Amino acid sequence: MKTRHAAEQMLATIEQEAGETRSYTGYARFSPAVMSAMAEVPREYFVPDELQHLAYYNGPLSIGHGQTISQPYIVALMTELLALGPNSRVLEIGTGSGYQTAILSRLAKQVYSVEILEPLAQIARERLQQLGYGNIETRCADGYLGWPEHAPYDAIIVTAAAPHVPEPLTVQLKPGGRLVIPVGNAFGRQELLLIEKGNQGDLQRREVLPVAFVPLTRSRPR
Ligand code: SAH
Repeated sequence: MKTRHAAEQMLATIEQEAGETRSYTGYARFSPAVMSAMAEVPREYFVPDELQHLAYYNGPLSIGHGQTISQPYIVALMTELLALGPNSRVLEIGTGSGYQTAILSRLAKQVYSVEILEPLAQIARERLQQLGYGNIETRCADGYLGWPEHAPYDAIIVTAAAPHVPEPLTVQLKPGGRLVIPVGNAFGRQELLLIEKGNQGDLQRREVLPVAFVPLTRSRPR
């Protein structure tokens, strides 16, 4: 019961913040499908034991290894920007806790998620399996390179900040597809970008909101 109350509070806070950021994002509210997914996925399973009391708090939380589970409002916004449908195939870079992955799996047909840190990749994989999400495939690799074997994707989401938009990701996006990515300095100014690929392969980019993400890291050259 306590959890349900906290989850309802979280949804109300997301709605409020959507209203407050409307002039940046263009959304006064998020779609019922996105809000249902946010209501359905049990966030407490994705938050470390010692932070359970903050599981439904509308802010980022540490998940160890210097990484964070993103703020619920940001998860909802990025999901909204992807404009997913029941036939969408989505690529996610930065599995982290697996929370955003679970949200995507409620709205898309198939989700492919890449995480660079092995311990996080393994925990998220086991967790998503235990929770019964059947349309998710995960991989431990450098997501800068995307996941070419399953390309092209209807939507691509990056949940770590890159200094620029990785070219492999725009290549792996379908014409008509959408890429949502924070771009900017590792610990400085970052903008959440929505990149839309036109039917001729042209790319249109829109700055959506100033944000603060952990940096996209690269695997060391051998
Ligand atoms: N969506 C996640 C966000 C985790 S933070 C959540 O809400 O839990 C960003 C994640 O991106 C971290 O787990 C980090 O290890 C991962 N990451 C950073 N650089 C990466 C890269 N090049 N490829 C794949 N994952 C990367």
